[in-house]
Amino acid sequence: MDTLVFDGHNDVLSRLWGGMVDPVAEFAGTNGHVNVPNCAKGGMKAGFFAIYSPMNRAVFDFANFDPAIFDMPMPPMLDEGVALTSAIGQAAIARKLHDAGQIEIVTDAPSLARTFIADPIACILHLEGADCIGPDLLALDALYALGLRSLGIVWSRPTIFGDGVPFGLGRDGDTGPGLTDDGKRLVACCKELGIVVDTSHLTMKGFWDVAEAGVPLVATHSNACAVLNTTRNLTDDQLRLIGETGGIAGLNFGTIFLTVEAWKTGKAPLDACIKHLAHMVEIAGEDHVAIGSDFDGAPLPDGMNSAADLPKLVQAMTDAGFGQTLIAKITHENWLAHLGRHFDNKT
Ligand code: ZN
Repeated sequence: MDTLVFDGHNDVLSRLWGGMVDPVAEFAGTNGHVNVPNCAKGGMKAGFFAIYSPMNRAVFDFANFDPAIFDMPMPPMLDEGVALTSAIGQAAIARKLHDAGQIEIVTDAPSLARTFIADPIACILHLEGADCIGPDLLALDALYALGLRSLGIVWSRPTIFGDGVPFGLGRDGDTGPGLTDDGKRLVACCKELGIVVDTSHLTMKGFWDVAEAGVPLVATHSNACAVLNTTRNLTDDQLRLIGETGGIAGLNFGTIFLTVEAWKTGKAPLDACIKHLAHMVEIAGEDHVAIGSDFDGAPLPDGMNSAADLPKLVQAMTDAGFGQTLIAKITHENWLAHLGRHFDNKT
């Protein structure tokens, strides 16, 4: 069986922006986790491409990863104008890749279905943290016009819309307040426009606030607290509600979301992914678990060096006794079905 993957989260746009490189030439080469050759080799046909506003314009060095950098207090709110500069830059890079025929920014169900069975890589444009949006929400309309169809209200820092979780071990995501009134307005606006609301990085109170808005609960790149209790993972109550609302939880390959040992060494075995997947499927249900790799945004487990190695995850699932039907749901069918429903509700 050929591997086909729809991935719920990558950070290649911020890697290309941070590196100040020619994005089309770089994306055609083999640097980093996500690029044309690696996706072709690993069967990655589609992904959520995150626009992310960092503190500094630089490339994260995973080869010299020190997990201690994640054990820190939550960073302060980012200036809206500073965040907008990086957001517009990364949206422009996505457009350049689109115009070069390397990706297709998909905004509706027919183009997603068509692109998934052919080339190029289907891109769901995602905003990871609404730091660049002010209370007038005008930047949301501008980004929507550029193809944005998914939005995480916060990264792991506060915005005017709500609080993100600081990275932390030994506790779940109940770390602070939920959505502000502006945050509730932002969620309503996303619902109106047909933008997926992503709860990864959001506090647990914020998660319940999104549930109140009556949208399917989606956590694009978060694992199970029952397997590793960290602020960035999901409790069983959260996983259950994701299933009940017809949402999706995407398996994050980032090692510090997989095992306790990774908080000391940065490393985790690939088998840890299987433990999280098995628990997520048990609690959320097999139609509500998918992949959200965090490629180009986190250190990866042993043997998984880039998108080219995705078949190794499929092999690990097969070895663990996951049937072909379940594997197909996790690797691509669940994201395709979810976004198909999402886009259809809009049109
Ligand atoms: Zn993230």
